[in-house]
Amino acid sequence: MARINENFQKLAAGYLFPEIGRRVRAYADANPDADIIRLGIGDVTLPLAPAVVDAMHAAVDEMGTDKGFRGYGPENGYDFLLDGIREHDYRARGIEIDSDEIFVSDGSKQDSGNIQEIFGQDSTLLVTDPSYPVYVDTNVMAGRTGGADDNGYYGGIKYLPATEENGFIPTPPSEAIELAYLCSPNNPTGAVATRENLEAWVAWAKEHDAVILFDAAYDAFIQDDSLPRSIYEIEGAKDCAIEMRSFSKRAGFTGVRCAYMVIPKTVTGTTASGERVALNQLWGRRHATKFNSVPYVIQRAAAATFTPEGQAQTQEQVRHYMENARLIRDGLAAANFTVFGGEHAPYIWMRTPDGQTSWDCFDTLLSRAQVVGTPGSGFGPSGEGYFRISAFNSRENVEEAIRRIIAN
Ligand SMILES: *Cc1c(COP(=O)(O)O)cnc(C)c1O
Repeated sequence: MARINENFQKLAAGYLFPEIGRRVRAYADANPDADIIRLGIGDVTLPLAPAVVDAMHAAVDEMGTDKGFRGYGPENGYDFLLDGIREHDYRARGIEIDSDEIFVSDGSKQDSGNIQEIFGQDSTLLVTDPSYPVYVDTNVMAGRTGGADDNGYYGGIKYLPATEENGFIPTPPSEAIELAYLCSPNNPTGAVATRENLEAWVAWAKEHDAVILFDAAYDAFIQDDSLPRSIYEIEGAKDCAIEMRSFSKRAGFTGVRCAYMVIPKTVTGTTASGERVALNQLWGRRHATKFNSVPYVIQRAAAATFTPEGQAQTQEQVRHYMENARLIRDGLAAANFTVFGGEHAPYIWMRTPDGQTSWDCFDTLLSRAQVVGTPGSGFGPSGEGYFRISAFNSRENVEEAIRRIIAN
């Protein structure tokens, strides 16, 4: 008899996206002629940039030669990619990150889900609500929480509501919490943290000796260059923050898989007896034990996004999505919908019309407009009464979706 990890049974109702898939399939089966437009799951739609494809081809050819063949790669990533990250994502913004502070991985979903492993079983944690479901669910699986209450709040997690009143960027709490998950630009609300917002969080973390887990998966969607793309643009963040970035959204790598995590050597946690331990060292051990590096071909593809052609082509993709976001935002606002986000993120956060619940709004839009979005409540209790619309689609589909939402 193999006993199971019963923490999994605390998970409420299953993952959001399978339920959306189930409802869309049921509708499509009943209405086989319906032309459904999917603005639900946050997945990119444009093909890979030519510079990326060329780099992958060249790397495949290299791997087919005696001289170019490579087996297991370096655990943290190849230097050519680490150098590109250091130069383009950090040095260009005045930040020095050492190569051994970067861990290349196959996704920020994995990174944001796995990082909790190096923290104490009874560590206290905080999420902004709503948030990317991975932060909460992986801590539930790890047994760091109680069960969910009737409102969907898990015992043992501090939820900070992201609301219209606080511009969807909650301020730090008054108390000490050990781990804080932050995401900017935010999925699902589309809100972006300003320098002042992040300064307040870094000051809070330093005061309480907390660690910030900063998810910057959408950094490339920031349109105003004065907004921080990295938490390390904030003084002191290298003492208290871990940062995660991904090639998924910035370069269309959701099916290619490449991301990285930065853990400065100055970020520490403590043992029960108060001894300080560098988190970089702990994660390095974890990474080397459970992960065998991202394929060479994929790392070459990721590095190609840092070439001049790669930069120009991937920035053009981001421009396409952000123009979609602008059209959705402006189109719905002109029709008297209340919308947020979409200015520095590919997501529009819409208040559901007529006080509908998030799932009612989902069902209404699916049946009347054949448009699929994501119910805000799926991202946490404070998402109730909101609806996320993604800008990841063709211009044609986005324009048609706006027309249909307004007409219904
Ligand atoms: C899409 C997304 C990621 C990226 O996940 P990958 O595993 O790198 O594809 C990470 N965090 C958030 C909030 C996301 O929306």
